[in-house]
Amino acid sequence: MQGFPFSTSFWFDDEIGASPPLRRDSQTEVVIIGGGFAGLSSAYYLRRCDPDIHITLIEAKHIGFGASGRNAGFVMNLPPLLWLLDDLANAQRVDDIRWTTAMILEHINAMGFLLEAESIDAEWTHTQHMLVARNCIEAATLRWLATRFTAAGLESSYYNGDATQMIGYPARAVLTFPVVLMHPYKLARGLQALLTRHDVQVFEQSPVTQIASDGKDVVVKTSGGTIRAQKAVLTTNAYIDRGALQTNIALPKASIYHTYLLATELLSPELQQCISPTGQPFADPSGSFFYGRLHDNRLLFGGIDRESRNTLADDHHLPSFERLYAEMLRRFPVLANVPLAAAWGGAVQETSTKAPIVRYADSNRNLVLNTGYGGGSGVGMGLLSGRLVAALIFEDATDVDALRLIDLYERSRFPLLGPVRTATGVVKQMLLGWFREL
Ligand SMILES: Cc1cc2nc3c(=O)[nH]c(=O)nc-3n(C[C@H](O)[C@H](O)[C@H](O)COP(=O)(O)OP(=O)(O)OC[C@H]3O[C@@H](n4cnc5c(N)ncnc54)[C@H](O)[C@@H]3O)c2cc1C
Repeated sequence: MQGFPFSTSFWFDDEIGASPPLRRDSQTEVVIIGGGFAGLSSAYYLRRCDPDIHITLIEAKHIGFGASGRNAGFVMNLPPLLWLLDDLANAQRVDDIRWTTAMILEHINAMGFLLEAESIDAEWTHTQHMLVARNCIEAATLRWLATRFTAAGLESSYYNGDATQMIGYPARAVLTFPVVLMHPYKLARGLQALLTRHDVQVFEQSPVTQIASDGKDVVVKTSGGTIRAQKAVLTTNAYIDRGALQTNIALPKASIYHTYLLATELLSPELQQCISPTGQPFADPSGSFFYGRLHDNRLLFGGIDRESRNTLADDHHLPSFERLYAEMLRRFPVLANVPLAAAWGGAVQETSTKAPIVRYADSNRNLVLNTGYGGGSGVGMGLLSGRLVAALIFEDATDVDALRLIDLYERSRFPLLGPVRTATGVVKQMLLGWFREL
């Protein structure tokens, strides 16, 4: 049986540029709680909107400690994934989805330009993501997905037939679409350094133990001191420890899921060629959603797993890693003798609609919630989220795009007929495929 070299995250290094903990009471105009991409993006857009406002970001462990520093580094230009199952005969809905996709793309591109302009090395690379079909049902699923991508305004290309020149396991079809790959921890640390240069005060190793409102200010307590702020933004996502954080403010309910990743030891160019001849990342089209990418001569192979409670034991849940490893070898038997360099997991918070929560807390307009960034497209939406937060904090009615996206997230509902639509669409594509082959 494979032994797993568990770590918190393969990406973490020596925490270069780490900030000190909070050691005294202080006042600020806006305090952001949580140093993942949602928190970093909130600080960035607040600073962009007001160069003088006093902003403090407070993080329980270190910047990028949560999902933002553990993820696979895919920045997807996708709306909340369940939106793809919506009724596309509804012209208004299609317009909303297309508009959201364009908005996310615009912000992903803007992030790329920012990193370049600020010389932040986050290994930001544009490439094509491959969804790989191994049987006729998956191939039909891909054809159905292609129609959904087109409706959503996403470029994609469908390759039918032998795809051995694209992926190293037997495939019947491949659907490609643009994606950005990056190094998540370098991105988080790079954004932190940028914010520090722009006078955002960052405190690490400072878990918030209490959030309260005294009618005027939001009062945020840590063991090292208390921050009084006119406004607060909560971006703790799945990493919030509800047991250790007291608050009289109603927090949204969401489930917590885990995602797991393995990194192999260094691979020869020949082995890498066997995995992904084009060097492009790949994933299953099915609900199990296993995925992989080559990074620095290693394969990173991941999968989404079960609902969890977000404990340390969940991060290293052995049966999940055994399943993940078996899935990796099922696709790439050539890796059977290659040792693993790292195995890690992380939690994400997901709403039932897979749309994030960006809104004022119930009964308190001084607290903005910015959370619920689940797997798959969480990074892309999280990096843009600060724009929405800024519109709420500054009560800026002129940023109509931000308000429209907030409204779309808020009105998002589980598409009840979505599974039926998917099944019908896939069956239709299977029949069409067979007719074409006749
Ligand atoms: C293994 C894995 C792989 C993934 N792969 C992808 C991918 O390839 N592409 C993609 O789009 N998405 C992916 N995701 C999802 C993506 O990482 C998340 O959607 C995104 O990072 C969430 O960012 P966030 O800022 O909302 O939350 P987080 O990054 O979790 O940040 C929350 C922060 O709040 C801090 N915090 C919690 N409680 C307190 C407190 N009391 N006081 C102070 N601070 C506190 C935490 O320490 C943490 O740093 C993956 C997730 C995981 C776990």
